[in-house]
Formats: sequence, structure tokens, C-alpha cells
Amino acid sequence: MAEKQVEKVIIIGSGPAGWTAAIYAARAALNPLLFEGAINEENARNGTLPLGQLALTTEVENFPGFPPGDLSGYLETALPEERRAYLPPHNKHGITGPELMELMRQQAIHFGTRVITEDIVEVDFSVRPFRLKASNGETYESRAVIVATGARANYLGLPSEERFKNKGVSACAVCDGALPRFRNRPVAVIGGGDSAVEEATYLAHWASKVYLVHRRDQLRASKIMAQRALSHPKIEILWNRVVDEVLGDDENGVTGLRLKSTVGEPDLTIEVSGMFLAIGHTPNTAFLKGQLELTDKGYIKLTTPFRTYTSVEGVFAAGDVADDYYRQAVTAAASGCMAALDAERWLAAQES
Ligand code: NAP
Repeated sequence: MAEKQVEKVIIIGSGPAGWTAAIYAARAALNPLLFEGAINEENARNGTLPLGQLALTTEVENFPGFPPGDLSGYLETALPEERRAYLPPHNKHGITGPELMELMRQQAIHFGTRVITEDIVEVDFSVRPFRLKASNGETYESRAVIVATGARANYLGLPSEERFKNKGVSACAVCDGALPRFRNRPVAVIGGGDSAVEEATYLAHWASKVYLVHRRDQLRASKIMAQRALSHPKIEILWNRVVDEVLGDDENGVTGLRLKSTVGEPDLTIEVSGMFLAIGHTPNTAFLKGQLELTDKGYIKLTTPFRTYTSVEGVFAAGDVADDYYRQAVTAAASGCMAALDAERWLAAQES
């Protein structure tokens, strides 16, 4: 069997950071190899299938370049037929998350990115070239690595929550909050941290009322943020409450929540058109098993401001796996570009 070549750069992850890194690396003649993730039940359950979190959303209205309009012809001509077959019919609202990711993937492939539909399950960054083991059992070697495996939103884990994902259950108010189904209707945000307050305040622009459902009697959010929620005329905080069941039906999606009390009060049912989770994210770093320095929240630690350097020279990180703060498609894409440029310069410096 022919021996595998040592790659110049391997990219792990297939969200906006991974594909943008691949587009830039391919155009810099680094011939990138990208692992987009395996298609299996475990990844489906965890929200870590290929194409990342955007593939789990509906409309994306805040990625520059995609105002409302009919992209049917563009999608038809830009994407190969076998990939189009996966996509639901185009809805003319601009672009959906899955469409955007398919277009980014296609753009990376167009410039020569090679894609393997497997997970990287283990890495050894203590040797040069770096060694990466894939879920197909094969080992790959690369001189540089870009980690762009993203993060996944935490959900409560209720079956009723699963049933209404994308039908009123969302983990991203900025992505979904302005959709017609939430306009001038009450919605609920679950959580008590800065994200929950931020999401509630954002949603209050569109919704008729926002319930902030928190499991304790004190917010975790910073004082200034907490004050914003407490004084907002449209936000009502429901203290000491957890979601027992998401209520709804197939036609309308979410119609309400049944809330349990954590302090022995009777159950409470509220009417809402949506439930937004803001109970934290989990970065997809388990496969690193201590090979890179992480922050205390488990995100990859970037060692230099405005660079994508990690604790291991030659390994770069981009997107949500190293960002617990902005978490936007466009910021992830931008950092993917930065990681490819950093990798290109680092590889060139090694050769000189
Ligand atoms: P976080 O601070 O970890 O807060 C998560 C919240 O969810 C907590 O209130 C927690 O309750 C609750 N929670 C966790 N698991 C739950 C469950 N299973 N059921 C019900 N509630 C649950 O996360 P975050 O708000 O996403 O913030 C992450 C980081 O980003 C923080 O450092 C934050 O300051 C920062 N951030 C800053 C801004 C800003 O400054 N504008 C905006 C967003 C985020 P408990 O309080 O009981 O633990």
C-alpha cells in the first residue's frame, strides 16, 4: 500500500471557520485536507454533524452578502446535484444555515480542498509532523493543523425540547429571534447568565413579552446586565423555575412551557411561541485530550492577541472552539481566514 504523504495543513471542522480556512489555505497552494466530521448517530445526538451549528438553523439573516432574494438559480448552478438533493427547497428569504454551509463547502472544494467525512478522534502534537487519528482508524500526518471544531449549545435534554427544535426551540436569539413566528408574541429565555440577559433584551425588540426563566433566585449575569433585565418593561423574570415540558403541536410548533418550581411552589404554565436556551455552550475539544492548553471553560487558549496561535507552535485554532464570546458565523469565518494566513506564514518561516 502506498505510504500516505505528510500534509502541509490539516483542518479539523466544517463550520464557517473550517471552510474559510480551507478556502484561504487552498488558494495559498497548501493543498489542505479537511476532516468535516463523521455522519453517525452520536454526532447527530450531540449536534456535531458535518457543517456545524449553522446546519441546525433556519434563516441566516446576518451574514453579510445575503439580503432577501431568490437564490434558487444560484444554488442550482453553484452546488453539485448530489449535494442539492440534501437541501429543502429554497425559501427566498435570503440564505439558510445549511445553504450557506453547502456554498462554503463547495467554494473550498472548488479551490482544491480534499474532504474526508470522518472525525479526528485523537491527536499527537508532541511529535513532528503532527499525527492525527481519524474515526476510520487511519492515521494522518501534517506539518500544521487548524482546529475549527466549534462548540455546541447546551440543551436541557427533554424529549419535548428535541421535538420542537427549529419549531420554536432555539439556542440562538441573534440567529432566530427576528423570525415572524416570534414577532409580537411572548417568548421565554432559559438561563440566568449574561447570555440569557443579552438574549432576553434582544428578543424584547420583537416579542410582545419575554419571560426569563431561571433556576435560582439570583442571576449569574454581571450586575450591569442583570439590572438591564430587572428594569426592562417587557422582561419578566420567573425565579426558581425549570422547564418540565415544552408544549406545542405539529402545526404551530411551541405554544407554551410547563414550569416546575425548585422551591416547592405549584407548577406554572406559560403561553409562549418560543423557547430560547442560554444555558452555556460546550466546546468540541474532547478529542484533544490535554494536547493543547485550554481556558478554564474548556475552550482552546489563544496565546497571542489578534493571532490564532495555540500553546503548540504550528497548531492554530479558529471559530467557536476558541471563542466563547462572539460566536457568530461571520466572526468564525474571519478567524478561519486568520488561521490559514497564520499557518501559511508559519510554514513559510519553517522552510526559510
Ligand atoms: P454562564 O455564565 O455559564 O450561564 C449559564 C446560565 O445557565 C447560568 O445562569 C446557569 O444557572 C444556567 N444553567 C446552566 N445549566 C442549566 C440547566 N441545565 N438548566 C437551567 N439552567 C441552567 O453562560 P453564558 O451566559 O453563556 O456566558 C458565558 C460567558 O460569556 C460568561 O463569561 C459571560 O460573562 C460571557 N458573556 C458576556 C456577555 C457580555 O458581557 N455582553 C454576553 C454573553 C456572554 P446557574 O446560575 O444556577 O448556574
